[in-house]
Amino acid sequence: MGDDQSIFSMIIEGEIPCHKVYEDDLVFAFLDINPFSPGHTLVVPKESTRTLDKLSDESAEALGRVLPRISRAILRVTGAEEFNVIQNNGPNAFQSVFHVHFHIIPKMKDGRGLTFPFKSSPIDHEEAEKLATSIRELLD
Ligand code: AMP
Repeated sequence: MGDDQSIFSMIIEGEIPCHKVYEDDLVFAFLDINPFSPGHTLVVPKESTRTLDKLSDESAEALGRVLPRISRAILRVTGAEEFNVIQNNGPNAFQSVFHVHFHIIPKMKDGRGLTFPFKSSPIDHEEAEKLATSIRELLD
């Protein structure tokens, strides 16, 4: 099914301990060992694929179905009202474990949670239209 084994595969198999919060046939979720805030959770497909673009539709559907539900439970339990979902692909994009995973990170009222060095610049509409057209064509 997958193309790689990782520490997350070992967690899913029960070979490494974790604080499990959810499991179904295709998805596994557990608390991050170095949390940005209490309740910081990793939601992982059981399929051991390195990056999101390589993931099967079946696993993608399963993840999409449970991400909101797991988020709601984390908010209820932590008392946070805001949160970030972040998903890194590739070492230069801050991925350190090469098995697809979504971080759910509660943003606490005291500021704990994710802080970004946000860096953006105004859109170039000419370039943007070319990009959007090309992406749309691939998705059609
Ligand atoms: P990323 O940088 O997006 O690849 O995130 C990988 C995450 O996995 C980091 O936030 C780590 O703290 C977390 N992590 C690594 N090993 C473990 C482990 N054994 N149990 C729980 N979380 C882990």
